[in-house]
Amino acid sequence: MAPTLNFRPQDLFLIAGPCAVESENQMRQILTNPNRPRLIRGGIHKMRTSSKSFQGMGDEGIEIIKKMQKEIPFDFITEVTDIRQIESLCEISSVFQVGARNMYNYELLKELSRYNRPVILKRAFSATISEWLGAAEYLFNLGEKNIILCERGVRSFDTKLRNLLDLGSVIYLKKNTPFKVLVDPSHSMGLTPYVADAAYAAVAAGADGLIVEVHPEPACALSDGQQALNLHQFDEMVQKLNKLAPLFDKELRM
Ligand code: PEP
Ligand code: MN
Repeated sequence: MAPTLNFRPQDLFLIAGPCAVESENQMRQILTNPNRPRLIRGGIHKMRTSSKSFQGMGDEGIEIIKKMQKEIPFDFITEVTDIRQIESLCEISSVFQVGARNMYNYELLKELSRYNRPVILKRAFSATISEWLGAAEYLFNLGEKNIILCERGVRSFDTKLRNLLDLGSVIYLKKNTPFKVLVDPSHSMGLTPYVADAAYAAVAAGADGLIVEVHPEPACALSDGQQALNLHQFDEMVQKLNKLAPLFDKELRM
């Protein structure tokens, strides 16, 4: 599977999909939405705060994605939580994600740097920008183009929202580093009604793309349903992003 995140300078790259792959039916509903992006996200191995929460489908999820990719061609991105998962995830995933909880897992980063796949490196909950860039250094072998940073909100004193969306980091990184920077408005805000507005703000801050959680039936989601957009809400966001992007010299690419 060839690397698929070839950004052109004007690209506003939209990646979307469920927090976790849950069933064939769930994935089919997302994939048959005429407005869906080419690059679909979906957790196979989930790192949940509670060990009693849904941990992802694992191998069964991999089989679902393989089957769906035969039926409807699409590129897939999923989180690698452990070195032992890399080989099997290589079969379905053209881009890897390192989650906030693993940003400091340098052995995982070193191992991923040996594969020819772009890596989206999420910022850890309380990582400084320097620590985040330090982690990115471990992926150096992949080349600047294949290391993509993703702001997903940081811990703050406030409890109203899931995290504090640090758009300052996006502005800083765009001016001072060569990396492409994505924003994840879903994990930043944590609640559906705020996700699209946070996405628009990210565009204004100079983000090169967005990674957004979408679920055909958020109320039935096995993880993060409270922050998922349904397909209708997703389509509305896409329409507005199409209008907004050119104001910031960007073009929505999906
Ligand atoms: C995710 O994107 O599925 C996820 C768990 O996000 P984060 O690592 O940013 O918490
Ligand atoms: Mn999630």
